[in-house]
This record gives sequence, C-alpha cells and structure tokens, in this order.
Amino acid sequence: MNILVTGGAGYIGSHTVVELQKAGHMVAIVDDLSNAKANVIDSIQQITGIRPAFFQIDCADKNALRTVFEQHPVDAVIHFAGFKAVGESVKKPLAYYRNNLDSTLTLLEVMEEFGCKKFIFSSSATVYGPNNPYPYKEEMPAIQSSSPYGWTKVMIERILTDYTTAHPDFCAVLLRYFNPIGSHESGLLGDDPNGIPNNLMPYITRVAAGQLEKLTIFGDDYPTPDGTCLRDYLHVVDLAVGHLKALEYAVKHLGVEAVNLGTGQGVSVLELVHAFKQANGIQLPYVIGPRRDGDLPAFWADAEKAKNLLGWEAMHSIEDMCKSAWEFAKKK
Ligand code: UDP
Repeated sequence: MNILVTGGAGYIGSHTVVELQKAGHMVAIVDDLSNAKANVIDSIQQITGIRPAFFQIDCADKNALRTVFEQHPVDAVIHFAGFKAVGESVKKPLAYYRNNLDSTLTLLEVMEEFGCKKFIFSSSATVYGPNNPYPYKEEMPAIQSSSPYGWTKVMIERILTDYTTAHPDFCAVLLRYFNPIGSHESGLLGDDPNGIPNNLMPYITRVAAGQLEKLTIFGDDYPTPDGTCLRDYLHVVDLAVGHLKALEYAVKHLGVEAVNLGTGQGVSVLELVHAFKQANGIQLPYVIGPRRDGDLPAFWADAEKAKNLLGWEAMHSIEDMCKSAWEFAKKK
C-alpha cells in the first residue's frame, strides 16, 4: 500500500517507516523538521535500502498537503506529527492546541478531498487521566488529561470518533502508547530530543555519555514497592510493529477503535536505572529529588485488546531496550 506518514522523521515515526518498508509498503513522509533532523531520511534508506519520499512541509499547510496527495496515491495515513513536550505545553497551551488540532483537521479535510479513508492516530495513555485505576483498559473513560499536550490527544480522539460516526465508511485506529524507549538495532535511529531531555531514557543516556552530570529521580516516596513511579516501558520497534498491525486491521474494517500499545507490566524508575547499568556495564550517577508536578504514581496497559484485535504483542525485554538505547546514544 501507499502510506503517508506525518511526523515520519521523528522518533516513533522513523521506526514505523522502517517497519512499513520492510513489510513492502511504499512510504511518503511529511515532516516540517521542527523537532527532527533531515539525516533521519538517510538513516532509513541505509537500513531498508529504500529512500522514502520526503516532503518538508507543515501538516497544517493545506495547499502543500494537497500537492503531496496529488503526487502520491495515499491509501492510508499514519499521523504522528505534533508537538509533544508535556511541560512546554503547560507554558504554551495555544501553540499546542493550534498546532496539534490544526494539523489533524487539515489532514482529515485533505484526506476527504482525495477519498482516503484509513487513519492511524498516535495517541497516548495520558488520555486515561489521573482517576482511572490501572491497568488501563480501552473501555475506561478516556476523556481527561493533566496537560494541554494530553488534552490535544483527547480532543483529536474525539474528532476522529465524531468524523467516523458521520462517515461510516471511514476507519480510525487510536493507538494509545505507553512509554516507548530504545532504538533500532542498527543504532542509526533513536530518541534524540533537542536540548535537555524531559523523558527518562534520553536523560539516562545523556548522563551515561557524560553530557549531563547526574540523573534526578523525581520522588521516592510514592506508594509503590520501591517508592519510585511505575510505568509501562516498551521497545520502540515493538511500537512501530504495532502500527503495521493497526494498518492491516484498518484495511479490513470500518469504524473507530482505541487500542493500548504497552507490555502490560509496570517497571519502576529505579528498576530501569539498575537495568540500564547492568545491561551496559556502566555507571549512572543519580540522586533522589522531589516529585515532578503532574506525575502519576503508577500506570500500565491492559494489553489484551491489542493481542485479540490486532494480533500484536510486545516482544523485547527491558534489557533489549536499555542496550539499544545506549547503542544509539554512544554514536552521537
Ligand atoms: N523521571 C525521573 N527523572 C527524569 C525524567 C523522568 O525520575 O529526569 C521519571 C518520571 O517521574 C516518571 C518516569 O521517569 O515517573 C517516566 O517519565 P517520562 O517523562 O519518561 O514519561 P511519562 O510517564 O511522564 O510520560
């Protein structure tokens, strides 16, 4: 199939493009490179031997997007493009709502003009909000979040649900990611945020590389076994394969489905830190600091629906995630 991947030069997007190409799909990437580097396209080509078509445009630029659809047949869209820094979204809510909502609405309008009816959306476990019990199940109310970033995910899920109700011949799969970490085995793709990382694994790898002095663990007084927060970390390549499975599902079905992509297991911050040290045989200085605003003590996925509906299951271990994350970071 011909797949349009918005945000395809980003961390999850680039890994997904590789899996799509490996499965024989033709990929066109739309990315404005606002938070990604152009050489990712070279890396994808190095890994798969195929250069994806690449358009450096803003997804909210309707005319530019039309040009892409005119030049490339598009059977399905996987939509990653969007601002994603939780903390920044609290400080710049308008920028987040404008960018994330505009790009999705524009994309849907252009898809409608060109008769494209298959949509895979990059959503997040944040839509379960602070009040649901874990493990999170897809049928729980997913209508809350603790940041403007998270609210854009809630709102876009709503938009896609309403659109699908109005257009019963449309299919949207809302993929709710838990905490993707790790890198492609080539060490050529990975999580490489600009500036000081907010997320745990990129912070760990910068400390391991000596670029940052030490990790601060945000709180060890949570009601969890070791007092640090529990999250469901999954390998980014598993996550990428989840998109392939969602695409295969979307081709054969109509309507809207939300699906968790996680391992179904909670791992603490301290456990991840120790796993990283052990897997890579390196030191990792850390201190315990205060809690970070907005962090929940624990959550992980109920991963049954992904298994039953999509035939997808996470395969990689925490050790694989830690080793591959370091392989990528070492090359930087
Ligand atoms: N965390 C930490 N120190 C850091 C970054 C993150 O202790 O420098 C913790 C954070 O409190 C959370 C977990 O690591 O419990 C995962 O955080 P991340 O930002 O990667 O993902 P989140 O689950 O918040 O989306």
